[in-house]
Amino acid sequence: MSEQGVKENKGGAKKDAMVTEITPQSEDFSRWYLDVVRRAELADYTDVKGCMAIRPYGYAIWELIVQGLDRRFKSTGHVNAYFPLFIPAGLLMKEKEHVEGFAPQVAWVTRGGDEELAEPLIIRPTSEVIIGTMYAKWIKSWRDLPVLINQWANVVRWEKVTRPFLRTTEFLWQEGHTAHETEAEAQEETLKILALYKEFAETELAMPVVDGQKSESEKFAGASKTYSIEALMGDGRALQAGTSHNLGQNFARAFDIQFQGRDKTVQHAWTTSWGVSTRLIGGLIMTHGDDSGLILPPRVAPYQVVIVPIPRGDWRETVLPKARELQAELVTAGVRVMLDDRDAYTPGWKFAEWELRGVPLRMEIGPKDIEKSAVMVARRDTREKGSLPMHGIAAAVVGKLKEIQQALYDRALRYREEHTQRVSSYEEFKSVMEGRPGFVIAPWCGTDECEAQIKADTQATVRNIPFGSEPVRSRCVRCDRESSVEVWFAKSY
Ligand SMILES: [Zn+2]
Repeated sequence: MSEQGVKENKGGAKKDAMVTEITPQSEDFSRWYLDVVRRAELADYTDVKGCMAIRPYGYAIWELIVQGLDRRFKSTGHVNAYFPLFIPAGLLMKEKEHVEGFAPQVAWVTRGGDEELAEPLIIRPTSEVIIGTMYAKWIKSWRDLPVLINQWANVVRWEKVTRPFLRTTEFLWQEGHTAHETEAEAQEETLKILALYKEFAETELAMPVVDGQKSESEKFAGASKTYSIEALMGDGRALQAGTSHNLGQNFARAFDIQFQGRDKTVQHAWTTSWGVSTRLIGGLIMTHGDDSGLILPPRVAPYQVVIVPIPRGDWRETVLPKARELQAELVTAGVRVMLDDRDAYTPGWKFAEWELRGVPLRMEIGPKDIEKSAVMVARRDTREKGSLPMHGIAAAVVGKLKEIQQALYDRALRYREEHTQRVSSYEEFKSVMEGRPGFVIAPWCGTDECEAQIKADTQATVRNIPFGSEPVRSRCVRCDRESSVEVWFAKSY
């Protein structure tokens, strides 16, 4: 790249920083987050309180998430189906804990056209009940089991405080609903999906997660057991990134999902449900982003590479055709490429813009590069710049993208490790939470009382009891009663 180009880069970036005004993370993380969402054109506010419009760039990330998950669901034997958005209000009332958990968040439809409805409808906050009524019809014999259905849908939960992607009144998600012959099979399914979520988060989103079981107070309304994956965000708060529930026979009893068993007796099915949502995009932003904006892991980046031609002389005749050639070569190798040949913007402006929008790799090509049969390549994550020969460019780029994916995961894992502490006294617990938050590992007696008191004192909640944690003979960090488990606490979103 030419000297001139370098100068432009610096000048452009500086000028752009004034225009875009992303609040630094250290100044106000929450403001930073909202700035990135808006400036990177991921989502925008709408006239509907608590509901966002997902813009094309944000939706493209969601589509990649959907594809990655859908492939995994199908390869583990699941199929997709679709159920109604509306649920007769009476149905929700059938499972007691479930209704208590969801009632405060339910949106109602009481009128259709100019008629008052005889029975009001609710808009699904989740679909256990409507799907449960269908399973009651479809499942008659042990031969009908297992039923392994997933639904891609929108749901509505009337939230008081909302934040784009993290908590919105309407959001997009997938919800899996399965029914099994035995308790063991339902448990196996619950854990299989949690492992799938963990693998997905770590492989595709480069987001390390802690997998484990939720405490009684944090479990899903109506579930026997809830498991979660928990990630740590850049401000030291945890994000519940996905949940998988073993519903036992609770919903089967409430909705009469019964079948004739192998021994001819009539039995209730064992069911599970599990979901992840557009919240994962919020997780991506807060796991990897920096003061310049978004940083996307290549596997979920709508554009993995942006090519910026340097406009010198008759560049449309010289540089642009070469840039198109490069683009075609990369596309053939399966790389998602944006060639930014817009005349109205300078290269410096484009550098800053695509940096803000988190494109993993930027490629610059000008007349001097063409003479040398090379291109300049800059990484978003490390900002490293270097020249790559045009010959064999596709393989080199694919290699770099893999490196970036891994580097982002490693960095996030290191961050989590640096922000995870084991504490032995309650004083220490409180001071960690006041200082630099993160995960705190501490022994807990298992009572709701201690959990509630810890939350009141520190805002931290039990995120989960991680799998594979060694049983410890210890004393509860708060009450000093005997404790046999260590749990992970954090302030959370
Ligand atoms: Zn205790």
